[in-house]
Parts: sequence; C-alpha cells; structure tokens
Amino acid sequence: MLRYVFVKGPQDTTYVFVTGGVVSSLGKGIATSSIGALLRARGYRVSAVKIDPYINVDAGTMRPYEHGEVFVTEDGAETDLDIGTYERFLDIDLGRGNNVTTGQVYQAVIQKERQGAYLSQTVQVIPHVTDEIKSRIYQAGEDDGAEIVLVEVGGTVGDIESLPFLEAIRQVRFEVGRERSLYLHVTLLPYLGSSEEYKTKPTQHSVATLRGVGIQPDGLILRSRSALPPEARTKIALFTNVEADAVFSAYDADHVYAVPEMLEQQGIARLLERHLKLERVTPELRVWHEAVRVLRQPDTNVSIGVVGKYVAMPDAYLSLMEALKHAGIANRARVDIDWVSAEAVAEGDVEQLAAFDGILVPGGFGVRGIEGKVRAARFAREGGVPFLGICLGLQVAVIEFARHVAGLDGANSTEFDPYTPHPVIDLMPEQLEVEGLGGTMRLGSWPMRVAPATLLAELYAGRLEAAAHAGHHDTVSERHRHRYEVNPAYVDALKAAGLVVSGVTPGMAGRGEGLVEAIELPGHPFFLGLQSHPEFTSRLMRASPPFTGFIRAAVRRRSELLNPDVVTA
Ligand code: GLN
Repeated sequence: MLRYVFVKGPQDTTYVFVTGGVVSSLGKGIATSSIGALLRARGYRVSAVKIDPYINVDAGTMRPYEHGEVFVTEDGAETDLDIGTYERFLDIDLGRGNNVTTGQVYQAVIQKERQGAYLSQTVQVIPHVTDEIKSRIYQAGEDDGAEIVLVEVGGTVGDIESLPFLEAIRQVRFEVGRERSLYLHVTLLPYLGSSEEYKTKPTQHSVATLRGVGIQPDGLILRSRSALPPEARTKIALFTNVEADAVFSAYDADHVYAVPEMLEQQGIARLLERHLKLERVTPELRVWHEAVRVLRQPDTNVSIGVVGKYVAMPDAYLSLMEALKHAGIANRARVDIDWVSAEAVAEGDVEQLAAFDGILVPGGFGVRGIEGKVRAARFAREGGVPFLGICLGLQVAVIEFARHVAGLDGANSTEFDPYTPHPVIDLMPEQLEVEGLGGTMRLGSWPMRVAPATLLAELYAGRLEAAAHAGHHDTVSERHRHRYEVNPAYVDALKAAGLVVSGVTPGMAGRGEGLVEAIELPGHPFFLGLQSHPEFTSRLMRASPPFTGFIRAAVRRRSELLNPDVVTA
C-alpha cells in the first residue's frame, strides 16, 4: 500500500512555474528573470529555482562548450548559468538550493531508501521522487524568505527527463491552490518566409502535451522575430484555452535588459496580479530604463579582446560578458567584445591584439591555448594595454612575469607542465589530498585582504568602506572556482622583481594563510590579475569594481589614441 503524504509549502508563498515548449534555448531563463525583475520592481521578495532534468548532480562536471558557463554561488555551488541570470535580474544572492537536478533528487531518494526512511514501501517516482522535488521547491522558497518563488523547468515539454518535474509542479497547485500557483509556458513561433506568417501549430501541440500531463497554462510567452500580430494572439488563445490578454510576445530584443520592459508594456504584471490576487503596485523600473538607454546610445565605445579557449561559444563566458556590459554602462560606453582564439595567438598571431583597447584573459582549465594567453599577458604588460586577468588569467600573468621579468626560465603551472623547473602556480596541500571531481575545488565566496595604496584598494574603495563599517577592515569577498594557487615559495622572488601582490587571503587556520588573491604592476595604466571571479557578483545596478576600472582604463586609452594631444586626467 502506498502512503501519500502531502508536503505542505509555507502558507503564504506563491509559485510561478515556467515551462518551455517546441525547442530548447528559447530564452526561458531571460523570461523567468524578467518576470522576477518586474516583481522585484514592485517590492516583492522573490526567489527563483532552476530545475535541470539532467542526471549530473550539478553543472560542475559539464563542458562549458556544450552547456555554457558553470555559475558559482556565494555558498560554493556549481550551478547552471540561469542561476546567474536570476541573480543579475533579481539582484539577489542564490545558493545551492536554487538549482535542483535529477541527479540530486535521485541521490537523496536513494540515500533515504538505504537509510530505511521508506521502510516497507516500494520506492517510486510518484510519490517519492515527486515529493522530493516538491520539498526542494518549498524549501528553497522558505530558505530565501520569498513571497513569490519562480520555478523554471529546464528542457522542453515532451522530454522524457522532465516528466517527474512536470508531475511535481502539477501537484503543487493541488496542494497550494490556484491562487498561489501560476503556470507560464514559453514557446517558439516560427516564421515562414514563403507564406510570410507566424505558424502557431507547434505551440498548439506543445500546450496539448502540457495538458496531457495535467497542466493547463495560465499564460503563454511566445518567442518570435518581431512583435506578435493581434490575429495570431487571438488564434493561439482560442486553440490553447489561454485568455488572449495572457498571451505575451517576447520578440527578439536588441538587449536582454530590454526584455523586462517589453513584458511590462504588454501587461504581464496584470496577469500575475489578477491571478495571484496581488495588490496593484507601480513598479520602479528606472535602472532598467537607464541601462537600456545607455546600451542604445552610449557616449563612447571600446573594443575588448577576450583571449580564451571557448571563443565559438560565448555562453561559456556569460557572466563575464554581462560584467563587461555592466562596466560599460557604468562608464557610459558600449563594450565591443572580440573573441580571440588563444591557440591562434600561441601560433604567432599576436599582432591582432594591437586592435584592442583592453585585453582580458578569462578563467579556464587545461593546457590548450595556454601559451597564447601568456603571450597576450606579455603584450599587454609591455605595450601598456589595460589588462584584466581572471583566475587562470592571473595565473598566466604570473607565469609570464616569472619567465620574462623575474628570470625564472620555464616557469609554469603544474597544471600544464608537471615537470616545470619553476612551479610558480601549484596545488596547495589541501588540494593534493582531493579525490574525485565535482565540488572539490576552492569554491564560493572567500575573503581577500586588500593592501592599501594599490590599484585594488582604489577600485574597491566603496566596498572597503562598507566592510570597515561592518568591522571587517581591509577585506572584501569574491567568489572562487579553482584548484591551483600562486606558489607561496615564489612570492618573494616575484615581488623582488616588481610584481605587487595587492590582495591575499586573510590568515585562516590550516587554510593557506596569505595565498595570493590579486597582483598588479605599478606604473602600468591598468594591469590587474585576480584569483577570484568578480564577474559572478556583477550586477546592472552595481557593476563589479575591477571590471568598471578596466573599462574606464580602456576608455581612457581609446580617447588618448584618438586625441593624442589631449591629455586626460
Ligand atoms: N585551472 C586553474 C585552476 O584550477 C584556473 C581555474 C579558473 O580559471 N577558474 O586553478
């Protein structure tokens, strides 16, 4: 006999579910985040959960080339990149509990079964797996103290993997009631050039599939090239049983940050207010208006060369791109990102770097393209080109400096050359003991002590002041995701050759006291390497300080190159 236990959600939390149909990569994450932004702009406490139906426990072991960036949260979870989009649009910090995968759910259910938690029962998808899913959704809302929880179900309706999740979200309405649950379905409206019309049939089929698992969507968001013609809206409403004023058009936008306004103008908030019995509030959307205005009409533009491995897959560096965009907005500049293949630079194509106002070497793993990144760091150092090195980018800058300035021939990271005579980047004892992959790196938020009178101190001045008020003098935190560190045995030699270590980890018992967090070159217009990934915490409303400084330096360089006679302050 099965025992059905209702997992009750907190009494006053409301759930907005977002599913996707027809094709993947529709921009469901942007749609979900935009709705979140509109609710946040109305003062609601909002949280978001991404459900990923894959069997990986987390995104940490997946190839960025296929799946996009691995986003890292404050608490050190390696998550799907949509978590980053939620954080940026909702301006909140999320954590481990906000990314639910099939892997996690089954791991938990199997563990409970082995511990005897389901003693005498046959453990099944319904109710055990669906209960586990629901309890995770409810728990995330509770942990985040949210009034409204957005739940995005990854994948496409009709996929085998997403069925238990759709069943679980169907049950949520049964448990919390209609007024505390809303289902939105995002689909694609393909445009047929030959007949010059949008085709609604795939959407009709997708909604029918969703209905087949017991979910009638309350609203539709239709992705299309241009704004949806009124007749298509009426037709879709009729065929899908969704009110015409709950059918929204998410047409291709020039900027992702224009999507909240696009949906606002069509009255998506009215649907939420009506259905969820929310008060009508005038939203505060100024930051969004202003950001979009600068993006559309910048005062200036700069060109940044990003020397990386995954140049054909910009999603692999999503947070980085957004952080550059935020920094651009803060400097009223458009940032044109050029992807430079590190391998091409390694093979000798260094001259292409001369076209950029700034050079950025992002995070990465593995030896491919390393020598190209080292060359890029050298080019920036010698040419006085603004340089920002993130994580691996700091490591290659240190390798370059060690080889060409400190005279440590053959210096390298043991990640790329285990037999290097000068392992300036190496594994620390605690990493040597690590077995297995997945959650085993230095992950999440770590504090960094900032040396006074450095570029780093100047960039973080605002945050340092806030930290001092909170009693944490000279300390700021950024998120990390790496295994290797600057080898403490070489720090004195590097310093003696002129490298400035402007950030270190504060002394922590047994935890690599004084590890290098930031390096810079005095006398250079802007040369900064960071062991952390400040792009993860950059927000539209609060651009990341190192990125803002980097773009500021690039803008200065550009204007100096364009007007060599005018000396800018
Ligand atoms: N591969 C390097 C390390 O593990 C850098 C990692 C990164 O750039 N995120 O330390």
